[in-house]
Formats: sequence, structure tokens, C-alpha cells
Amino acid sequence: MAMMRIRRRHRERHRTNRIGWLRAAVLGADDGIVSTASLVAGVAAANATHEDVIAAAVAALVAGAMSMAAGEYVSVHSQADTEHADLERERRELSTDLQGERNELTAIYVRRGLDQALARQVADQLMAHDALGAHARDELGITEAARPRPIQAALASATSFACGAALPLIVTALAPTRYVIPLVCATSLVFLAVLGGVAARAGGAPIARGALRVTFWGALAMAVTAGIGALFGTIP
Ligand SMILES: [Zn+2]
Repeated sequence: MAMMRIRRRHRERHRTNRIGWLRAAVLGADDGIVSTASLVAGVAAANATHEDVIAAAVAALVAGAMSMAAGEYVSVHSQADTEHADLERERRELSTDLQGERNELTAIYVRRGLDQALARQVADQLMAHDALGAHARDELGITEAARPRPIQAALASATSFACGAALPLIVTALAPTRYVIPLVCATSLVFLAVLGGVAARAGGAPIARGALRVTFWGALAMAVTAGIGALFGTIP
């Protein structure tokens, strides 16, 4: 019985890691689809040539992917900077007030349910083994596995955006000129519904609601952009 519980928790922890990664990828792809499909609808509604619409879609993919990468890199890097500063402060505190740090760690283990004597023993042994590691993990919640990796995050974000944006771009390139708007909008809404459902399913939320939510906002973005494009198209 206990073994089954451990196995289930183990599976759950892995699932939680997977969900985080999947959700980030789906959100990036959603962004790519909505922003590129809306831009295509807007430029096409302004009576641009088919070639110009394709060029605008390619520019939207590249610009969007680069800005996602830049934004993700900056935000994850600032998180890494904060963690680094916390670790440096902890290292200083360990060198200036070892006894105080030992008491702090012991108190953490007591709060987690150990009795005082055992908590003291655990704190002593863990600090003897790797004092900074023990404090980083149990006091600051910093673990090697969850370390912020700005470059990986930037690449993952840019890739998921580019994959999303590639869908309306391909449809734009393949569609006959006069069907670009309806085909790009219709296929993009289907892609969004599928992605919304996948993200909801992965997060344990109702699939239909997840699909509907992202499809609604996608449709709104495309309609507003196409409307403004059509307005520009009427200006001689
Ligand atoms: Zn500490």
C-alpha cells in the first residue's frame, strides 16, 4: 500500500514538471497563432497583394519569436540574478553566523514535523555534508533541477511561438488569394481549439472550456485586426 502511494506521488511529481513545460509551450504557440493570423487578416483586409501578406506573415513570425526570446531571456535571467544574490547572502551568513544558521535550519525541520533532537541531528549532518546546499534547498527553495536557465527558456519560447506562427503562415502561402482571410481564420481557430483543449487536459481542467476560452479570444483578435485593416483598405 505504502509502495503504491510512493509510486503515485513519484508519477505525480513527474507529471507536474511535464505540465509546466507543456503549458509554456502551448501558450507560446497560441501567441504565435493569434498574432500571426490576426496580422494576416488585417493586412489582407487592407487589400495588400498576396506576396505582401506572405511577407508580413514571415516578418510576424520572426519578430514575434525574437521578442518572445528576448522577453523570456530577460525575465528568467533576472530570476537567476535574484537566486544568485540570495545564495551569496546565504554563503555570507554561513561564514559569519554558523550557529544562527544551524538553529534556523533546525527550526525549519521542526516545523516540518521532526522532534527537536532529531531536527538538530539532521541539520548538523546535512550542514556537515553541504551547508550551502542544505540551506539553499530547505530555506530558500532553490534546487539544481529548478535552476532558471535563461537560454533554454528563450529558445523554448521562441520555438513554440515560431511553431504556432508557422501554421497560419503555411495556410496563407497555400490559400488562393481571395480565400486567405476565411481560410487562415478558420484553420487558426481550429488549431487554437486543439491547443486549448490539450493545455486544459494536461492541467486537469475541462477540455471544452479550455478550447472555448482561447478560441473566443483568438476570434476576437482576428476580427478586430481585420476590421481595422479593412478600414485602412478604404483609405485611397
Ligand atoms: Zn540560512
